[in-house]
Amino acid sequence: MAKQEFQTEVSQLLQLIIHSLYSHPEIFLRELISNSSDALDKLRHLTLTDDAYKALPFDPRIDLELDEETKTLTIADTGIGMNEQDLVANLGTIARSGTKNFLAQLSGDAKKDSNLIGQFGVGFYSAFMVADSIEVVSRKAGEELAWRWTSDGKTGFDIEPAERMVAGTTVKLHLNEEGQQYANSWRLQEIVKKYSNHIAFPIFLTYDKSEWNEAEKKSDKTRTTEQVNAASAMWRRSKSELTDDDYKEMYKSISGDSTDPLFWFHTRAEGSLDYTTLFYIPAKAPLDLYQAEYKGGVKLYVKRVFILDDAKELLPQYLRFVRGIIDSEDLPLNVSREILQQNRVLTSIRTASVKKILSELKNAAANDTEKYLEFIEQYNRPLKEGLYGDYANRETLLDLVRFKSTEVTGLTSLADVKSRMKEGQKSLYYITGGPESLLRNSPLLEIYRKKGYEVLVLDDEIDEIVFSTVDKYGETDLKAVNKASTSEDLKDETDSQAEADAVKPLLEKLKATLGDKVKDVRVSVRLAESPSCIVSDEEEPSLQMQQMLRAMGQKELPTPKPTLEINPEHEIVKKLLARPDDDLAKDAAWLLFDQALLLEGVALKDPASFVQRLNRVLTQSI
Ligand code: ADP
Repeated sequence: MAKQEFQTEVSQLLQLIIHSLYSHPEIFLRELISNSSDALDKLRHLTLTDDAYKALPFDPRIDLELDEETKTLTIADTGIGMNEQDLVANLGTIARSGTKNFLAQLSGDAKKDSNLIGQFGVGFYSAFMVADSIEVVSRKAGEELAWRWTSDGKTGFDIEPAERMVAGTTVKLHLNEEGQQYANSWRLQEIVKKYSNHIAFPIFLTYDKSEWNEAEKKSDKTRTTEQVNAASAMWRRSKSELTDDDYKEMYKSISGDSTDPLFWFHTRAEGSLDYTTLFYIPAKAPLDLYQAEYKGGVKLYVKRVFILDDAKELLPQYLRFVRGIIDSEDLPLNVSREILQQNRVLTSIRTASVKKILSELKNAAANDTEKYLEFIEQYNRPLKEGLYGDYANRETLLDLVRFKSTEVTGLTSLADVKSRMKEGQKSLYYITGGPESLLRNSPLLEIYRKKGYEVLVLDDEIDEIVFSTVDKYGETDLKAVNKASTSEDLKDETDSQAEADAVKPLLEKLKATLGDKVKDVRVSVRLAESPSCIVSDEEEPSLQMQQMLRAMGQKELPTPKPTLEINPEHEIVKKLLARPDDDLAKDAAWLLFDQALLLEGVALKDPASFVQRLNRVLTQSI
């Protein structure tokens, strides 16, 4: 039969593939094994569903055979096979829609075009990276005739009748110079294990094994056939077939962690997208959890073929402690990292996966409290990062995060805090900005204690930043106790206007003394025992936050002034009110201000003056 020419686009495509994938030609094997696996899947499907095929034998296997002498490598399968038309259509034209789309988008700019390749399958043609010529002998299931397709990948291809004992396809590669490195059984085993370990069918390798012959003191070559892959994508099996031990073993093999995982979530999605996910939560947080250069723990598979690991695009950053696999049926095998970021399929899988992980964690929180607390001990903080970044899942995350509070020892959930709200309590409250002991002793909490309102004690460094962006839990407001507006919630009907008016002259005097150090001086509704406290405006970062930002190197920070609040019920305030505005009163004004700052954990700008004033006041009173 006369030589048939490739469609011109095919030759173009070949050149492009060869150049863009040249840096890792080993993927040719992954592509060919994946084709064989697809062919086996197709035949299995037919034998199960189509009466015409039911009687056909189905003995699924993939055989790699290496001939070191002639430098040929064959990949044979017992799959669906191809007849003459199939061979022409599949291996000689661009009938396949993926390739067509690909070609339609070519720009002529080699660099851009090779990036494009990642979005489409390269498949069979990649074998021309390692072979001078390729011979395909195939017999379609249910047909008698077999066909041989041969090509050098440049000029075109020949097709002629051939013989094959059983249905299936044999691809024989005459390895070129680049391909010689694959005429090595070690290398082949390594590549199969790396990419195709979890292909569902057994992959055998036949090669010359050197064995030491003790009697004759020389090494003999024996032709050996060994299975090289594990052939078990356990995540593709149904949950009911799997034991806890199966899951734990899988975890250990993919994570390198020898401790059992805390939780695992196994999901099979079918419909507009087909994929399987198996996620694990390690019992101990990965060591690099707080390092900028952390490693992602989720591996991406396409149709059970390993594609890449440590792909940070697979889950949002705050879930970087999750280990596991995503196995998609809808992505091309050579999808690249760059493409992952914008791939529609992967975006959908990612969104659904995050939802799944969070909802499973919520289940665990409800049904397995003890284990959930172990989880929180390790991962409360990354969840808080999620509150900051993952707006879509904020409600769920708020339910998952745990808090210290003034009412409980240990940790509590927002739902529980809400259920403990008192009659008349308008919002949920929290205090941030300092170590736990400082927060728990803050004068800002006095009124809450008096009213019996619970306050969350947020002492984690990131709390201040995270919670400044969270202002509601469900319908309930979430407010910082050190914000000026919170006092609206706390006003009692019994707080009399007359009393407020009476203190007014003192407020004026204090303002005059403190000058531009304060924004305002006001009567406080939040103090019970202390004479004074400091509060910030709603939109302004709190004093501690300002300190932190400066420590982090932000120099150009505006310095919003704090507001001083005083407690009209307090002895000191009452006495000051009755006293003329002399030096002692001025010292007292400054001391009220400075002590409020100290209790907020703010370092005094002028500690010497503070001590001098304190000593003057002491001298007078002793
Ligand atoms: P892809 O696998 O992405 O479709 P390929 O270039 O690898 O692209 O293969 C083109 C087509 O050739 C496949 O879609 C399939 O129909 C057919 N094919 C390739 N290898 C085999 C095989 N081993 N058995 C049966 N058909 C095959």
